[in-house]
Amino acid sequence: MSIILDGNRVRDRILRDLGPRVAALAAASRPPGLAVVLVGNDTGSQIYVRNKVKACAELGIASHSLTPPANIATEELLAIVEGLNQRPDIDGILVQLPLPPQVDSRRVLLAVAPQKDVDGFHPMNVGNLVAGRPGPRPCTPSGIMELLKQYQIPVAGKRAVVVGRSDIVGKPMAVLLLHANATVTICHSRTADLPGVCREGEILVAAMGRPAMLTADYIRPGAVVVDVGMNRITDRAEAARIFRNSPERLATLERKGSVLVGDVDPLDMQAKASAYTPVPGGVGPLTIAMLMANTVNAAEAACRIMEESC
Ligand code: NDP
Repeated sequence: MSIILDGNRVRDRILRDLGPRVAALAAASRPPGLAVVLVGNDTGSQIYVRNKVKACAELGIASHSLTPPANIATEELLAIVEGLNQRPDIDGILVQLPLPPQVDSRRVLLAVAPQKDVDGFHPMNVGNLVAGRPGPRPCTPSGIMELLKQYQIPVAGKRAVVVGRSDIVGKPMAVLLLHANATVTICHSRTADLPGVCREGEILVAAMGRPAMLTADYIRPGAVVVDVGMNRITDRAEAARIFRNSPERLATLERKGSVLVGDVDPLDMQAKASAYTPVPGGVGPLTIAMLMANTVNAAEAACRIMEESC
């Protein structure tokens, strides 16, 4: 029997612990403030932003949504970010990715003040992460570390394999596992013998954005499998293959026109892993919880600076 690593449960615990800290900040000066910049009308991004704004409201964090049009120029977006950098009521700035093609995303992310960079994407914070210095950590990988901790899954001395090397998930995940003393291998689209390398992983993290790609052949018996992938599939034949004995998931496809699947074959993962994160309900809820945690940390740091300067 494998253990299901329940992201919703861990999220609830993280948010419960943040509650009193938000209340203390509100009582001392003002509630933490998070600015969310959503450029254009991408439906997926709108859903992500809506969930983030909802989480803020539930926790008592003041959220400020900015929705510039899809045709915004880089300079105009830089001016918006600069304005937010200057606002004392804003502790965190989140620029929802992806940005439209005409916008220079790197310049925009670089413009966010490092102390307000609640996504942990600013090169200065990437440096802090790699050097093991304090600073905001990217939300998805830090949420996964929290999940492993809460479930008391040993990491030190384990062989960890991370599939995917994005700046947002794969690379920071590998660094956090390394800091926790795992022996880490990072895989990508050019890795030779991917199944063989994955089978070495006592902890296997899948973050490729490829629906159900990691099948039984990639999973070491008894591995802890963390499935970061969030892929919406609409093809009935593909869904029937992936959810071969889950009539309820196939019913979701019929009802909604699409169904969510991770990067690991769900049934193979269930059969071979000792513990695994389901999709949905695994990694997804943790990302928002860690965004809230980063915002509260930034607000507390800003409050400390205010007190020192008085
Ligand atoms: P990216 O597209 O930025 O990166 C994908 C990585 O996977 C790349 O490094 C790529 O390799 C690698 N890859 C792609 N195809 C293969 C393959 N066939 N074999 C081996 N490696 C491959 O994706 P993200 O990191 O942003 O996201 C990954 C997944 O995680 C997505 O499904 C995304 O939706 C999900 N996600 C979920 C979150 C959550 O909260 N649950 C948060 C963020 C992301 P290469 O570098 O060689 O191209």
